[in-house]
Amino acid sequence: MAKVSKPLCKICRRYKEKLYLKGRRCETVKCPLDPRESKKKRGTSFVRRRKLSEYGLQLMEKNKVKFYYGVLERQFRRYFEIAKRSKGVTGENLLKLLESRLDNVLYRANWFYSRRMAKQVIIHGEVQVNGRRVDRPGFIVKPGDIVRLRPNSKYVNTAKECIEDYEIHIVPPWLKPDTENITMEIVREPDRSEVTLPIDEQLIVNFYSK
Ligand code: ZN
Repeated sequence: MAKVSKPLCKICRRYKEKLYLKGRRCETVKCPLDPRESKKKRGTSFVRRRKLSEYGLQLMEKNKVKFYYGVLERQFRRYFEIAKRSKGVTGENLLKLLESRLDNVLYRANWFYSRRMAKQVIIHGEVQVNGRRVDRPGFIVKPGDIVRLRPNSKYVNTAKECIEDYEIHIVPPWLKPDTENITMEIVREPDRSEVTLPIDEQLIVNFYSK
């Protein structure tokens, strides 16, 4: 997991995007992306943003995506290498891989409030793919996979609550969840257009292509 020591929504502000690192908090006034607004509220001063170099922009975009998906540098680079070797457009391949992570899938199905929370539940061995326990949050799901919580998992209720709370969050059509039984089928690969965070992935590709 990308290590975070700052209050989470400071990270949202730094990257000027709501990253939903802690789930619902980003939907409230506690996550103001406009520093002026938060300055008014808290009376703190903010460092003026320097104009970024091309390298700075690339670094910023890479780190934003790393935080969003909660992936460490080594793993992120590994995804990049896989994306480069696969056929198709490298940047798109990279985002599809990230989106296909097991923790992301649980989050996008609205079973948990954040990717971090989904990650913890996976690490605790509460999630099965095709009937077998998978405790790696970075496991990449494939079309046809059946994902579910372990039968009798104490998180079944958490998931049901979250599904209700997150009613307005649309589950992407590549996932087919059965909310009654907390299972889901991976119908197909995610599409680039189904990644909800605005990302300029070419900046990331350029960063690693130097
Ligand atoms: Zn936030």
